[in-house]
Amino acid sequence: MTDCLFCRIASGEIPASIVYQDERVVAFRDINPQAPVHVLLIPRKVIRTHAEIGEADKELLGHLHLVAARLAEQLGLGDGYRLVVNCRERAGQTVPHLHFHLLGGRDMTWPPG
Ligand code: 5GP
Repeated sequence: MTDCLFCRIASGEIPASIVYQDERVVAFRDINPQAPVHVLLIPRKVIRTHAEIGEADKELLGHLHLVAARLAEQLGLGDGYRLVVNCRERAGQTVPHLHFHLLGGRDMTWPPG
């Protein structure tokens, strides 16, 4: 039993709209989407934040990127998408389990807020 929200989604204990999963990665739709497509990609391994990734995570992070790119294509984002990682409170991280936001389906502006 864990109190980590995203671990509980990954295990199926808390329902989510899962769009992809394998033995290392789970992707599911954000409950409060900021774009027509807004998917969160997480490693099953608990890494609390991007700043805490280690040498041992290099292959896992590469896999996450590959899944994000393939999913973007499958979800109709071939014309462009944004991949976002909020690291720690000041950047707006609210869930302490590393996640990529995959956003697309609308025009994006830069710089972000
Ligand atoms: P962060 O702010 O940490 O970068 O992103 C956390 C994201 O998780 C937010 O976009 C938020 O909407 C999403 N989120 C929070 N709770 C839940 C939940 O219970 N289910 C799903 N699918 N997304 C959630």
